[in-house]
Amino acid sequence: MTTANPESPATPSNFLRDAVAEDVRTRKYGDAQIQTRFPPEPNGYLHIGHAKAICINFGLADEFGGKTNLRFDDTNPEKEEQEYVDAIQHDIRWLGFDWERLCFASDYFPQLYEWALQLIRAGNAYVDDLSADEIRQYRGTLTEPGKDSPYRNRAVEENLDLFVRMKKGEFPDGSRVLRAKIDMASPNLNMRDPVMYRILHATHHRTGDEWCIYPMYDFAHGQSDSIEHVTHSMCSLEFADHQPLYKWYIAQLGIFPSQQIEFDRLSLTYTLLSKRKLLQLVQEKRVNGWDDPRMPTLSGFRRRGFTPEAIRAFVNTAGVSRTNGIVDIEMLEHFQRDDLNHRAARAMAVLHPLKVVIDNYPADQVEYVDVANNPEDPAAGTRQVPFSREIYIEHDDFREVPPPKYYRLSPGKEVRLRNAYFITAQSVVKDAAGNVIEVHCTYDPASRGGNSPDGRKVKSTMHWVSAAHAIAAEIRLYDKLFTRPDPGEVEEGKTFLDNLNPDSLEIVTDAKLEPSLAASKPGDRFQFERVGYFCLDPDSTPDSTPRKLVFNRTLALKDTWARIEKKSGV
Ligand code: ATP
Ligand code: MG
Repeated sequence: MTTANPESPATPSNFLRDAVAEDVRTRKYGDAQIQTRFPPEPNGYLHIGHAKAICINFGLADEFGGKTNLRFDDTNPEKEEQEYVDAIQHDIRWLGFDWERLCFASDYFPQLYEWALQLIRAGNAYVDDLSADEIRQYRGTLTEPGKDSPYRNRAVEENLDLFVRMKKGEFPDGSRVLRAKIDMASPNLNMRDPVMYRILHATHHRTGDEWCIYPMYDFAHGQSDSIEHVTHSMCSLEFADHQPLYKWYIAQLGIFPSQQIEFDRLSLTYTLLSKRKLLQLVQEKRVNGWDDPRMPTLSGFRRRGFTPEAIRAFVNTAGVSRTNGIVDIEMLEHFQRDDLNHRAARAMAVLHPLKVVIDNYPADQVEYVDVANNPEDPAAGTRQVPFSREIYIEHDDFREVPPPKYYRLSPGKEVRLRNAYFITAQSVVKDAAGNVIEVHCTYDPASRGGNSPDGRKVKSTMHWVSAAHAIAAEIRLYDKLFTRPDPGEVEEGKTFLDNLNPDSLEIVTDAKLEPSLAASKPGDRFQFERVGYFCLDPDSTPDSTPRKLVFNRTLALKDTWARIEKKSGV
């Protein structure tokens, strides 16, 4: 399934690409270009499921020399906000796409209204006075046909009069609707006289109080596609049952024949992709906003340090299908590690510092070791890292009593300090509670640069930070937001909130970093050697002295020791 470059044209074909290619071959739309659209409702931030729809719609148009519109599907005034409109545009650009035209379904309200009048005049729509509850009861079920509303056979003139007055605001919310007159016995419930317009005295984020009737999704979407001459309207599978209605409106109105094609929704393990649920997490402050690095939103991934390249490569490789499935979150993480391995600058950072004093190293000496910024990328250059008599290492890199196969520092054991020297642990200092708070070592001056002077081997190489030069930072370590691979599954009497992982955020307040990191900017990404990938958070202050630095852990490195420990049960 994986190709060397998932974005290359060598990517295996799929039924969406085949459909577009076939229409191009048969000149289904004549000389017209391939036109797609991405149609988010501005009722929340984009999540990684949307990234799939974006890559498909923008990607296929691109491939066939066509264009993609960004269209806000803004027909629900109560849930929509300008904040979302702005964030969505920002996130699409970040992901690496730009649209041909910026459109709003609300710009089409006058045209949609005219088309509603046209359907009424043709006897294909009627005003219904049944309540929402009654309409539901009359609709029937999958096994029973629906019943006609007593208002179904109203005369055209009466329908026109009532609909015009609905628009003028003469009736209260919910008192009447406009319905398409199709077939109350259709096996497809969407075709049983679907509602076209409802009365809603609400202020819209763009049209203000101009309208008090709003079109339903089905009466807006296909016609908006048609207005924009969308040739291929690609959306997720839950709209498949709406396709007959999509076609019906277009056929009745005799307008540009846009066509809808469905693909599977992206679902990820340990992740919920539903704006409604994500909004609830934000509103109830279960997370710190839409861009909390634990959120599956594009803004959350960005803040966490994910790259648009990795997200695109992941989405393209996961591919499309005609049935919904679930993708392992580790696949996304794999793509991200791979991408960061190539692009992230290396640095040394100690998350849980333990002081090491090198007794035979001159007290006032400082050496600068020349270190490659990225061994994967010679063009990234080198930097000078200070080394001195007192350094910090990770607490976990020292054990007074080493378990079997533990090759890091322990009394009498020699290890390599990366790019610096071989050191051997000699003695420890403990606090009153018996915890090791300082390790005394000796070093071999002949091992400068971390090279063995006489071919003798050490089994471990460790990162370190010079104590006198270290800068302090807060580090935010993230774990999965949910404890279950299927967080939407809830037990009796519980909600998805009960599946939240109480330990999804751990804050390390006293990490010690090499001094070069003091100059990093929010969004800069690093590999802290042996620890993981990290990204400077915007909560860092720009110019206080000292700067407050906050790093987010994007992903841990694959932890080989944890695997050994688990396997051997030590
Ligand atoms: P949610 O259910 O999270 O609220 P939505 O489908 O209501 O999402 P829209 O703003 O209506 O969100 O979606 C815009 C486009 O993105 C639609 O064409 C929809 O098909 C697509 N889309 C949404 N979620 C996914 C997903 N998980 N996988 C693939 N496409 C998606
Ligand atoms: Mg939707």
